[in-house]
Amino acid sequence: MRVLVIGSGAREHALVLAVAEDPSVTALACAPGNAGTSSVAEQLGVDAADPESVSALAKQWQADLVVVGPEVPLVAGVADAVRKAGIACFGPSASAARIEGSKAFAKDVMAAAKVPTAHCEVVDNPARLDAALGRFGPTWVVKDDGLAAGKGVVVTTDVDVARKHALMLLDGGHPVLLESFLDGPEASLFCFVDGRTVVPLLPAQDFKRVGDGDAGPNTGGMGAYAPLPWAPKDLVDDVVERIVQPVVDELDNRGATFSGLLYAGLALTSEGPQVIEFNCRFGDPETQVVLALLRSPLGKVLHATATGKLADLPPLDWDSGAAVTVVLAADGYPGKPRTGDVITGGELEGVLHAGTRRRDDGAVVSSGGRVLSVVGTGKNLKAARKDAYATVEKVHLAGSHHRTDIALLAAKGEIATPVS
Ligand code: AMP
Repeated sequence: MRVLVIGSGAREHALVLAVAEDPSVTALACAPGNAGTSSVAEQLGVDAADPESVSALAKQWQADLVVVGPEVPLVAGVADAVRKAGIACFGPSASAARIEGSKAFAKDVMAAAKVPTAHCEVVDNPARLDAALGRFGPTWVVKDDGLAAGKGVVVTTDVDVARKHALMLLDGGHPVLLESFLDGPEASLFCFVDGRTVVPLLPAQDFKRVGDGDAGPNTGGMGAYAPLPWAPKDLVDDVVERIVQPVVDELDNRGATFSGLLYAGLALTSEGPQVIEFNCRFGDPETQVVLALLRSPLGKVLHATATGKLADLPPLDWDSGAAVTVVLAADGYPGKPRTGDVITGGELEGVLHAGTRRRDDGAVVSSGGRVLSVVGTGKNLKAARKDAYATVEKVHLAGSHHRTDIALLAAKGEIATPVS
């Protein structure tokens, strides 16, 4: 099987590494890829967000399966174009990807499927903002209705901060979503979905805030770990039954059948799991830890998902240990990151590349905000943390920063509850 992975982050580096281990995969390419994926997969050039470019490349390279990593190409209709070209594609159609592309659409689907989530209001007119803010908070949760790479959300106890963020979004022509605040630890559950059948992966937790102790602004994710030793034993079954399957069925009823990876971002509140958001693809950085523990052949699983054959697969096989990933971010991230700094240690085992590129002289340099994602594994979270941070010490990127507390509380047997 010839597999083409679309994307260029640490998630795609983790995907190509895992797919490369599947004996049924005879050729592997990544487009546009990065300095890390290029050492595992053939590197091809493409405008990942342009459906026609991706489908033309898939045809030309004679792909048997295209795996689309990021959300922007999916929302733009890349999976539709690839399928139209007669090639199996792992990733939802543009109409199903709206579950991530429009938070208002996701809320509507959840309401119809009777799935527990935060109460919300959409505000598209600044004149209505103050009255709407008065119906929420404290704490206020203000979101961009569209895609914002995890950075469009402000959670604050200060109404002036909430108003300022909402006005900034409205000024830019973006409708704003106000939500009731969900308390409790967060968990991410990824599920393979082939239209109807749902196969859950291991639950994980990510760390959205930039600084230790959940200080500072939200980011695309600064680290993650799996599994969750503190989670209730029935968490996964409960979430599939009460949340994921009803949403999958509702999307199917609406003619927006979901095929690919459905990611449920959850708050485990005192009233049970509630949905913070759905994503229509593998989440970064949770993918890096979940795939580090997967033993089943990933190429086969992705192909079965893309072709509606998940029910024929044996149950997923998992390593019994734990994995932790720590993200190294460039100076300035999550604001304007500094790029072009030389990275050393990027070839070490467990180091996944995100914003990196190879310079003409062969040096690997930073090219984005989140630069590397360092993965450690071990028999438990304590050992996995030790492994990840030992590698972080060996990597060098001038001006970089990372969190030192990824999985720290969970490794001590405590629950990490985000401070908002
Ligand atoms: P999102 O982009 O919707 O995943 O939101 C990013 C982060 O903001 C989440 O991971 C949460 O930490 C926080 N957040 C979003 N919505 C809520 C909510 N309704 N209540 C509490 N925290 C939230």
